[in-house]
Parts: sequence; structure tokens; C-alpha cells
Amino acid sequence: MTTTADDDLRSTPTQWDEEYDVVVLGAGAAGLTAAIVSAIEGKRTLLIEKSDQIGGTSALSSGSAWIPNNSYQRRNGTTGDAEAALEYLDALVGDRSDRKLREVFIAAGPNMLEYLEQHIDLRWLMYDVQPDYDPELPGATIGGRALMPLPFDGRTLGKNFDRVRSPIPEFMLFGGMMITRGEAARLLRIGRDLDSFLLAVKLSGRFILDRMRYKRGTRLVLGNALVAHLFKNLLDRRATIWYNGKTTRLISHARHACGLVVQRDGSEVRVRAKLGIVLAGGGFPASPELRERYFPKPVAQYTSAYEGCTGDTLLLAQEIGASLGSLGEDNALWFPSSIATRKDESTAVYPHIVLDRAKPGLIAVNSAGRRFFDEASSYHKFVRAMYRSNRNVPSIPAWLICDRRFVWKYGIGMILPLTPFLKPFINRGYLHVADCVEELARKIGVDSGGLVETVRTHNEFARTGVDIDFGKGSNAYDRAYGDPEHLPNPCLGPINRSPYCAVAVLPTPLGTSLGLLTNAHAQVLESSGQPIKGLYACGNDMQNIFGGEYPGPGAQIGVGMAFGYLAAKHAIATG
Ligand SMILES: Cc1cc2nc3c(=O)[nH]c(=O)nc-3n(C[C@H](O)[C@H](O)[C@H](O)COP(=O)(O)OP(=O)(O)OC[C@H]3O[C@@H](n4cnc5c(N)ncnc54)[C@H](O)[C@@H]3O)c2cc1C
Repeated sequence: MTTTADDDLRSTPTQWDEEYDVVVLGAGAAGLTAAIVSAIEGKRTLLIEKSDQIGGTSALSSGSAWIPNNSYQRRNGTTGDAEAALEYLDALVGDRSDRKLREVFIAAGPNMLEYLEQHIDLRWLMYDVQPDYDPELPGATIGGRALMPLPFDGRTLGKNFDRVRSPIPEFMLFGGMMITRGEAARLLRIGRDLDSFLLAVKLSGRFILDRMRYKRGTRLVLGNALVAHLFKNLLDRRATIWYNGKTTRLISHARHACGLVVQRDGSEVRVRAKLGIVLAGGGFPASPELRERYFPKPVAQYTSAYEGCTGDTLLLAQEIGASLGSLGEDNALWFPSSIATRKDESTAVYPHIVLDRAKPGLIAVNSAGRRFFDEASSYHKFVRAMYRSNRNVPSIPAWLICDRRFVWKYGIGMILPLTPFLKPFINRGYLHVADCVEELARKIGVDSGGLVETVRTHNEFARTGVDIDFGKGSNAYDRAYGDPEHLPNPCLGPINRSPYCAVAVLPTPLGTSLGLLTNAHAQVLESSGQPIKGLYACGNDMQNIFGGEYPGPGAQIGVGMAFGYLAAKHAIATG
């Protein structure tokens, strides 16, 4: 039997199977934030996660949150950052998104951080140097806006530790030990200073003990630390969490979303949401159909985002009249990623975030063997440049080119620095190696004359320290991820020692920017602009407030958590 929205309204309270104040769909950073705020405020909270683990893409991520004008900056003496950040966003985004939402974010972000610090002791580390992604624009900063969650002890979760989604395997050492980028840099100095040696002893000692009792290390950092911290506090407050919950429809009447129908353990449960329903399903980076519909051609076939982010929540909302935001340039946020088959035959999608592209001695070329962009620029801008270049000459995949000396010193993609044997990567078709540049070009199907000429020109730039063509290493962002010990330009070094190496990279969405249209309270809107009472969206389910631009490190999680906080607060205040 089919029921209409009107039938739903006629349902008396006794026809509901369960009743909560706030119901959240999706247990990533955005949904967990909405849920914890509701629980802190003493509301009956139900968090429904479609998989058997919490964390979503947030658990796989670096966990950085971009929050301008945060209290860490203020404690360090920074003033006026709210105005500076708005100026920066105006320059970067212009009228591609509603300025009001940016203003709301700038105001709410610091409040959200302070609220969570006060109630659940969620604390962060501020990087002095972690530049915004368009450092030349007015209002950009060199550091301070991006915050990294402090490590979290997974042992405090007891048996619920297994409910926290594991990071991307390639981002862990020894098959299960998490470390931060800063720790990785220190470990690479292990033969050179005592401090690094002691760190290695401490981390590996803890990991060995962990492995006697747990499937992986329990010292959680990055996105895993963030979601585990929120999760632990949700458990402590006895919020209800349903795993493997499939919501088949939202129940609404007269622009009021008042409940939902959930498939659970083989039966259908009608859940009343008295104050609000918050959609936080992480957008649609993992939906082949929606990627086909909304992404540029050639359509990305892989994603490093969590495979459960397939846009179900967007479709549920649209069924009761919600509207998507307007289409953007590409509707996605991007990583260039290399693809490999793991030993267990699963597919590794390895995002080249900041570890290799900016280092001296690497260029990226298209099929003509020509560079097409500043390799050290942000991952999002780099992929957009791949698509632009592809309009004129095949540039997908693009090829990262370097020499063996570079791979030894800095690593490339999945290949860690100081890796002695490259054979396994060559045999799996991940790394291509040749004795000379011409031969490498032939092996990877790139114009050899073009590549030889490009490498020659680039080596000249490396000598002078000035990349006349694309300015690699000419701005603060590039230099932050170069090699500070390499002069005159930390991002430019020669590619001149045989053998030569190449790795292919493809555009892969780390998230989506097309989402549900919302207002300043995170309320979901109809196309007329009318809010649907009781229905909220945050994280990647919400239309990107930066018009698809990527202002700085942590811009996804920062905004997701800020609007998760606003959604719960509004539902509680007005529901
Ligand atoms: C390797 C990597 C590193 C990154 N690093 C950063 C970073 O440092 N900072 C940053 O800001 N961004 C980063 N990103 C991007 C960022 O992680 C995501 O954009 C962000 O985590 C999305 O958060 P979310 O809460 O919207 O969704 P998610 O964290 O993906 O959570 C969504 C959850 O909803 C569940 N779900 C989906 N549909 C339903 C449904 N119908 N019912 C119930 N549950 C559902 C999913 O299973 C999932 O658990 C990174 C991404 C990757 C891949």
C-alpha cells in the first residue's frame, strides 16, 4: 500500500513506532556535530548511519577544519580575521554563492568551536604556517585558519572502537599506525636527531601493544581523531545510534518534515522527529549515476571519498519538494589521485594532496609532454587545470614526472620516501621507469619530443629558481609544501638523473559541491525559496557555500561542522 504525505499527517502519534526530538542521517563530521549538539542540549537524539561504522569520508580525511577568526588565532594576538576572511572569500567566490551564507559561516564557526570545547573538550592544534589556497588574493592568510584535531585515544571507546571507520590503508604505517604529517616529517629525520628516534620508539611501542588487543593502532589522529571524539561523547550522552539504517522516505505535510520511514533489521520503522531531521549523508562523490549527470567529461570513475556517499539523502529530500542549488563549474571538489590494485585485489585511490607535487624535481605533463599548470598549487585547482588543458590536448590522465633520486628522497604517491625496491610498484603498473626521458615518454604514450623539451626547459628554471611558465614556488602556498632546504626555490629542482619515473593521476572527487539549497539556519529550501520546516542539511549534503571554490585547508569539515551546529540549534529553538 502506498501512503501519501496527507495520509502521513493523519497518522496519530500512536502510529509512530519511535519518537525522537532530533534525527540525524549520516555519521560524518557534519552529522556527528549536529547530533552531539542536540544531545548536549538534552534532546532525544537519534543518529542513523547507513553503514555499520561511523565516520564517512571525514574518518578518511586529514580532519582539518578551516575556521577564520577562531579563538586559537585570537589567543595568538590575531585581530580582524573575520573581516579579512570575508574579503578573501569575496575575491575568490564573488557572486557564485550567497554572501549571506559566508557571513553566517564566519560568525558561527568560532562559536561552534568554543561550544564544543566547553561541552566536550574538543581541542585543536593551530598551524602557524598552512596557507590559504589562493594566497595572492586580498585577505588570504599564511596560517591560523586551519586547525587540526588533537590525537584521540581509541581505547576509551572500548568495544565501540571497531565502529570507527579506518583511514585509507596507504595513509597508515605498518598496516594500522596513524601518524600526522608533522610526525612523518620528524620520522624521516630518524638517523639525524635524537628527538625523531624517541618519537619512533614511542609511537611504535604503543602500536605494538595495541596490536596485541586491537585490529589497528588506537592512537587516532587526523579525521579519525575528530570523528572518534564526537562519537565517544555521543555514546556518553546515551544518544541512540542505528547502524545499517536505510531511510526509504521522509514523511512531510504542508512543508513540514515530521518523520521518516527506516528499514531496520528487516522491518519498517516509522520514526517521528519532533524538532527536526538533519541530512548529513556526505553528498554524492561515490554515486556513478550522479557523477555521470553532474560532473564534467571525462567523468571521474574513482573517488577517495567514502563509498557510501551516494546522494541518497539528496534524493529523499527532493522527493518532498527540496531543491538542489544551482549547477556550478564542475559540481565537485577534487584531488588528483593515482590508482593501484592492492595485494588483496581492492582498488587504492591515492590522493596526491601535498606530499609530492610541490617538491623540487617534479613536473606534471599532458599527452603532448607539456606542462599545463603550477604543479604545487592546491589539489582542487590542479584538477581543474587538468580539465582545462584537456579541452585542447588529452590531459586526463596527467603524468607526474621525476627521477629516481626524487622518489628516494620525497616519495611519490603510494611510494614512501626511502623505499629501496620499486619493482613491486613497476610490476603492478603503478610506476613507469626508463633510462632516458625519450624512452619514458614512449612507455607512457606521451609525445617524446615534447617531454624532452619540457624537461630541458624545466631544468633551466630549476637552475635560476624562477618558473617563467607557471610560477611553481612563487607563492606562499607552494613554498609551504616544498623543501625548505632546497635553494633557490624550494619547489624547483632538476630532473636529470637516470632512471626517470612517471605516475599517472586522474581527477577524483573528494566531495561534491552541488547540494541541497539551504538558508542561513541550514533549513532546506524549496525552489521557491520557502523553507521546509523541520528539514536541515549540512556537510556535503548542503550546497557549497563557496560556490565550488576551495579557499583553504579544512574548508569542507569547517563548514560542515558549523552548519551542523547551526542546524541543531535552530531545530531545538524553533521546532
Ligand atoms: C583523503 C581525504 C582527506 C581529506 N581531508 C580533508 C580535510 O583535512 N579537511 C576538510 O575539510 N576536508 C577534507 N576532505 C574532504 C572531507 O573529508 C569531506 O568533504 C567531509 O568529510 C564530508 O563530511 P560530511 O559529514 O558531509 O560527510 P561524510 O563524512 O562523508 O559522512 C557522511 C555519512 O553519511 C552516511 N550516509 C550516506 N547516506 C546516508 C543515508 N541515506 N542515511 C544514513 N547515513 C547515510 C555515510 O555512510 C557516511 O558515513 C578530505 C577527503 C579525503 C578523501
